[in-house]
Amino acid sequence: MEFLKRKIEQDGLVLSKDVLKVDSIINHQIDPILMSEIGKEFANRFKETKVTKIVTIESSGIAPGLMTALKLGVPVIFARKRKSLTLVDDLLTSTVHSFTKNETNEISVSNKFLSSDDRVLIIDDFLANGQAALGLVDIVKQAGAEVVGIGILIEKCFQQGGSLLRKEGLRVESLARIQSLEEGTITYLEESEA
Ligand code: 5GP
Repeated sequence: MEFLKRKIEQDGLVLSKDVLKVDSIINHQIDPILMSEIGKEFANRFKETKVTKIVTIESSGIAPGLMTALKLGVPVIFARKRKSLTLVDDLLTSTVHSFTKNETNEISVSNKFLSSDDRVLIIDDFLANGQAALGLVDIVKQAGAEVVGIGILIEKCFQQGGSLLRKEGLRVESLARIQSLEEGTITYLEESEA
């Protein structure tokens, strides 16, 4: 998605050979026009898949998840990373190791929002080692629902998440695929190599 790549070029900061900071458009301040375009793009890519729910993870998945849900006309559910006093229903939970925070969290979704009839599109901001996405897939499967695909804003192709998920037979659509962050430079994977 050229618009997203251009925005990353303008506003992204390479923190190390593994980590990209995009907190002025995605992770802290949010660019609403960019999110609207992202929603349109995911809705178009998954339009044939009869999605009934979007599932994402707090907090950076919520904006793109919501915009995609709006375009597809379905609800969005975000997995919580912390226990909430108001989250007292039966919970579907999974354990996720965070790449950026280097900590392990239990993530949870109330089972009243997912059922075996659901066809779920998972949305997240980054794909690194695939732990967040795998945790969400686990939760969707616990509900007996089907994962129709995974939509990612930025896939770092030099980490193993993409191949791990695709090997599981999951459809992964990433809007910007980064081949390398070496020497402070963002290099995208050419679409022909994708
Ligand atoms: P994974 O679970 O695939 O290892 O990592 C994905 C999660 O870690 C995403 O939800 C995202 O929040 C965070 N993450 C991974 N890599 C990066 C990165 O380079 N930059 C930022 N801002 N977040 C990242």
